[in-house]
Amino acid sequence: MYARGVPVVGAVVFSVDAELGWGFHDLPDPPTPRVEAGREGWLTLLDIFDRYDVPATWAVVGHLMLDSCDGVHADLPAIDGWFDRERTSWRDRPDLRFGVDLVRQTVDDDHEIACHTFSHVRFGDPRVTPEIAAAELAAASDAAQRFGVEYDSIVFPRNAVGHRDRVADAGFTCYRSRESAPATGAGRAAAKLRDALTARPSMVEPTVDEYGLVDVPPSLFLFGFEGWARTVATAIGGDPIVRQARNGIDRAAETDGVFHMWLHPNNLCTPRDARRVDAIVEYAAQCRERDGLRIETMAEAAARVR
Ligand SMILES: [Zn+2]
Ligand SMILES: [Zn+2]
Repeated sequence: MYARGVPVVGAVVFSVDAELGWGFHDLPDPPTPRVEAGREGWLTLLDIFDRYDVPATWAVVGHLMLDSCDGVHADLPAIDGWFDRERTSWRDRPDLRFGVDLVRQTVDDDHEIACHTFSHVRFGDPRVTPEIAAAELAAASDAAQRFGVEYDSIVFPRNAVGHRDRVADAGFTCYRSRESAPATGAGRAAAKLRDALTARPSMVEPTVDEYGLVDVPPSLFLFGFEGWARTVATAIGGDPIVRQARNGIDRAAETDGVFHMWLHPNNLCTPRDARRVDAIVEYAAQCRERDGLRIETMAEAAARVR
């Protein structure tokens, strides 16, 4: 496979959307088990990546890099009522609003720190003006500077791609878009069960968009297949996501494509969730030893295309 005359060799990328409470603050009824799983899941993921010496791209919500705030953010253009939750029900939950301790450990582990906006703003939302987008990017960059971080990559909250002109203006070089054409409703569950059993996740090819940004699209969300379908598929042939991921890693090693997996720390709600991720990261590390597979950050994968 060649892109713009540059040979592309096989690589695996892991990206992590790290947000603690911010992934849910705008929802009328945040899912408690996931909200509460974010901190421990973050530490568990760091442990897993460290165990196998695997780098990942951590897309961290900028607000987590603050020590404190007034809960108002009057200087930041925002949708009406955007910061209400941190002044009301999460007023006494700094553990959901701040994460300096976690960010520091992540930076120390040589992962890539990417942007996930300052307050988990959905850039594809029509209420989000170019001014809001630019202000979110600037606030996140300011917060990251405390950790010596200059961003290359952005992951759009809820994968809602938008305001790429502002993203390019702010100096970013790459982003993660979304999986192609998700089905909906009952058809979606059936399609996922079929995909899980046939185990052919897609390889992706990073491409340069009209703003000069490299899109490193996702291949597989590691927790997009839960509930009854996970149970059915697991009974048939073991954890279907582990099987899919191994299949994708094999193909990355054999073919020269990019296989990009992503997840949130708060997806690790139970021990079996952590075992899934451990098995996948371990397998990628084994293929790196055995086949010379590359395990790259988003910025590294993008740099080869630019
Ligand atoms: Zn705040
Ligand atoms: Zn998110």
